[in-house]
Amino acid sequence: MDVDSTVKGYYEKILQRNAGEPEFHQAVAEVLDSLRYVLRQDPHYTDLGLIERLAEPERQIIFRVPWIGDDGQVHVNRGFRVQFNSVLGPYKGGLRFHPSVNLGIIKFLGFEQIFKNSLTGLPIGGGKGGSDFDPKGRSELEVMRFCQSFMTELHRHIGDKTDVPAGDIGVGGREIGYLFGQYRRMTGRHESGTLTGKGLQWGGSLVRTEATGYGCVYFTQEMMAARGERLHGARVIVSGSGNVAIYAIEKAQELGATVVGFSDSSGYVSTPDGVDVELLKDVKEVRRLRVSDYAKEATGATFHKGGNIWELEADVALPCATQNELDDESAKLLADNGVKYVTEGANMPCTHDAVRVFHKRHIDFAPGKAANAGGVATSALEMQQNASRDSWTFEYTDKRLQNIMRKIFKNAASTAAEYGVEGDYVVGANIAGFKKVADAMIAQGVI
Ligand code: GLU
Repeated sequence: MDVDSTVKGYYEKILQRNAGEPEFHQAVAEVLDSLRYVLRQDPHYTDLGLIERLAEPERQIIFRVPWIGDDGQVHVNRGFRVQFNSVLGPYKGGLRFHPSVNLGIIKFLGFEQIFKNSLTGLPIGGGKGGSDFDPKGRSELEVMRFCQSFMTELHRHIGDKTDVPAGDIGVGGREIGYLFGQYRRMTGRHESGTLTGKGLQWGGSLVRTEATGYGCVYFTQEMMAARGERLHGARVIVSGSGNVAIYAIEKAQELGATVVGFSDSSGYVSTPDGVDVELLKDVKEVRRLRVSDYAKEATGATFHKGGNIWELEADVALPCATQNELDDESAKLLADNGVKYVTEGANMPCTHDAVRVFHKRHIDFAPGKAANAGGVATSALEMQQNASRDSWTFEYTDKRLQNIMRKIFKNAASTAAEYGVEGDYVVGANIAGFKKVADAMIAQGVI
């Protein structure tokens, strides 16, 4: 990937030090590319190895996760926790359980998390973890045993003042329950502030389940309002069908939009008359089935096996599945089909070339580190409730989330304008997220 000459030297060194980690390179390149605007004006941000320190995790933990399957076979997975940056607060970020997980993917996610968490305005550092374990097709007891084995090692590295994991792909309420149970057993302490995304009876926060999807839609509303438009009456494509997608669909439709399609790795479902959200939740959250099963049971829905969801006609696209799911060819399709707004619900779902197409074709684009920050922000609100042994109402917590998303939008928009690239929310978010972290790193010295 080409980056500007101001930052090329840093990028090349980071490439060399982190060979074979393409997703990490991509995430770093995107941030560095935005920083050229800052470094030209404020070269002091390169003093004392700041950029080199920022690109190097404070600590990386890799561990063996052995577990026994229902058939008596021993399985060995690999566990990761990358504690990337704690200058603003305890490491904070999810755990991903997916067969594609490797160190480079966890590092890309952890790196993104630093800036995302900074943008929330809340006191949380950046980290990420996970495993190459595939929960798909595993029994309830296998998932439980895996989570217990994973936490048997992880417990010694986390805590409410050190590192607070949560969910991500493949880790939802069920997994957080098993992980928390084992943490409590290993430590002999009911420290609710050590994990977020917990059940409501034992320290969880209302709105945490909905927060990433809702937040992504709140951000989209702000972006549209800046152009005098609204979501009401718009056609929206939402890729994916996991936690982020389901609640993005729910909120978009609540606000009067029609969601015309969603997907999983097997294909997409077109829903020209909108999505039956209760049925989707039942298929995905309760019965843990595929989107093709939704299409069988819903009226007016068609399953397109292996199809590309980005071929649908719409006004707004919300990629909510996974990294690099939307490339430049799909970006061109979206532009040709009339899409005017793209908001990332997932982490880095759009390739660098796709983002270029959006900018060229005057599509407003919101990067995940700003637009999907509602999830981790609400995790930080869960931590606040845990610290004060309190629990807030749904309405109050949702209001806090809306305010946070509005502030993130304003911050990204005003920072972009300040650096002369009005409407470029990638540059705005990267610079705003970076400056807060960088100023804190300067204040705290070379450590
Ligand atoms: N995995 C989510 C993210 O990508 C949430 C992390 C959290 O709640 O700590 O931001």
